[in-house]
Amino acid sequence: MADHLDRSACPATVQLLGKAQQDGVSTAFLRADHVKPCPIGAEGSCCRNCAMGPCRVLLPRGKSDLEVEVTGVCGATTDTISARNFLRMIAAGAAAHSDHGRAVAETLIAAAKGEAPGYTIKDEYKLLKLALDFGIEVGDRPIEEIALDVGKAALAQFSQQEGELAFIKKAPLKRQEIWRKLGIVPRGIDREIVEALHRTHMGVDQDAETLLLHGMRAALADGWGGSMIGTELQDVLFGTPQPILGQVNLGVLKPDHVNVIVHGHEPLLSEMIVVAAEDPEMLALARAKGAEGINVAGICCTANEILMRHGVPIAGNFLQQELAIVTGVVDAMVVDVQCIMQSLPKVAQCYHTRIITTSNRAHIPGATHIEFHEHDAVNAAKAIVRAAIEAFPHRTGRVEVPPHRVDFVAGFSHETIDYLLGGVFRASYRPLNDNIINGRIRGVAGVVGCNNPRVKHDSVHVEMVKELIKNDVLVLQTGCSAIACAKAGLLTPEAAARYAGGGLAEVCEAVGLPPVIHMGACVDNSRILMAATAMVKEGGLGDDISDLPAAGAAPEWMSEKAIAIGQYFVASGVFTVFGVTWPTTGSEKFTRMLFEGLEEKVKARWAYEPDPIKAARLMIEHIDAKRKALGIDKARERVLYDMAMRRGLEAL
Ligand code: SF4
Ligand code: SF4
Repeated sequence: MADHLDRSACPATVQLLGKAQQDGVSTAFLRADHVKPCPIGAEGSCCRNCAMGPCRVLLPRGKSDLEVEVTGVCGATTDTISARNFLRMIAAGAAAHSDHGRAVAETLIAAAKGEAPGYTIKDEYKLLKLALDFGIEVGDRPIEEIALDVGKAALAQFSQQEGELAFIKKAPLKRQEIWRKLGIVPRGIDREIVEALHRTHMGVDQDAETLLLHGMRAALADGWGGSMIGTELQDVLFGTPQPILGQVNLGVLKPDHVNVIVHGHEPLLSEMIVVAAEDPEMLALARAKGAEGINVAGICCTANEILMRHGVPIAGNFLQQELAIVTGVVDAMVVDVQCIMQSLPKVAQCYHTRIITTSNRAHIPGATHIEFHEHDAVNAAKAIVRAAIEAFPHRTGRVEVPPHRVDFVAGFSHETIDYLLGGVFRASYRPLNDNIINGRIRGVAGVVGCNNPRVKHDSVHVEMVKELIKNDVLVLQTGCSAIACAKAGLLTPEAAARYAGGGLAEVCEAVGLPPVIHMGACVDNSRILMAATAMVKEGGLGDDISDLPAAGAAPEWMSEKAIAIGQYFVASGVFTVFGVTWPTTGSEKFTRMLFEGLEEKVKARWAYEPDPIKAARLMIEHIDAKRKALGIDKARERVLYDMAMRRGLEAL
């Protein structure tokens, strides 16, 4: 493996990569050295949609599909194949988020019927707002009755066949008009995902343009459908997040405690594990086995979810899941769905760690399966915590918990941004809009997404975000990107004085806001859509999301969900830059549609730039262009930082 220092910007990760090597453990970093990306698949030029193939549609060296036509056996061209592959990625990403949202809707229904002990309605105000969105009568009906109707209405959004998804009406009116004109308003969540698979089947849609249009429809069904349902109903069940102090990195693990790691995406079970770990019976059992207590920590988006609502620490992001086990102190790693590596049971064999799968949708050979059902969640959670306690005395191998642990603030829903900026008596986005108009804040960027071992872990997120805040761009974050920047110390109010440009620092210091705002898990990118909509509705920054001085990015993406998210950002009017690799480069025609042609249709487009500083500059240039179009460019002096100026700031 290349020098550990080159593999991550995170010191705990670098340290444990050394231990993994000594312990003879294979990690994703090592495997990335051995498994080279397939060059044909990487550019989206491989179709395996029927048994006449797989067809590798390779162009002669140096030629593009604009000059030469190459086809698969059925005659499908490079642009059709690229567009199909892209649409299939969107469909898979949207399906993952939507199944998450569906599980939350089912749990709300069970809770409302009194069939899910342990779950209650924590945010009645949000429930009532959702009742209005779904046209459900409120009156003086009992809250459980309203919750049941809201749960059923949300669940019906998945199988709806006609009409429009309910949350589409939350978007700015002008955006809704664009969607209606293009015919891409989602009808039902499952319907759009199924149609994406049908269209991309052999011999169906053979036009890259119509494939792309449906890609937007399926992605919108995720952003303004499945994901938004997941976010909103989780807020109802578990409470809308409020700013909360958290700690992050592998140093949150405690050698003298039973350590339980919850990893994956759905907080339904992990909420209960937090409760079970505080149960006096469990604590007594842990002490009887020689432990000081029970320590619950999270990995990936489950971590973001339970941190936001309980202050439970985050052990790390995607590429740290194997390394958490390598510390030798993780007694159980409990996984649900998404972003879980199949290598975990193998890594765990070198230690004493129990890998416990909990979803009937996600089994891993070598793991223990303790299935979770909402009607019996408390008992499943207790069984899992008990398994961790039983594993504690069997620790084998050398223990090494890196000393790295960083404080940060998380839990900013779009509603709490309202309160923080406008105050309790008049919650409002007005101060944010005013500060953008007067130029103290240049614009807003959503920087989200995964880690990818093809690039230096965390460094692309951190460098991009530092560049943005230095240039007075307020950054909104979710997912593993938020965890990366939290580890780098960017998610504290103090980071404003240290890293932000003068204007942004001034605003952050006035309201006690970090310059980088943690808005939750991947599914909570819907909160960024709502924040953007709130800015439009507040006024003064145009009448559509595409008018805002705003941009999006996923600089270390790896998941199909990231493509779905990026596509719904673009379809919602946000210029979006991805790093690492771009999955359609085999077709110049289709890539041009994404990078240029979409602008005409939805007033936003994709871009690809793996260098974090160059990508940040693309975003800043876009933000400045939008400021100019709004006539607010005079309010600020336009300064782009060169290397010398950045070093000057670094030295501060
Ligand atoms: S659908 Fe066409 S391009 Fe794809 S594998 Fe079959 S024959 Fe080849
Ligand atoms: S950001 Fe990506 S890697 Fe991280 S949890 Fe979300 S989808 Fe998984």
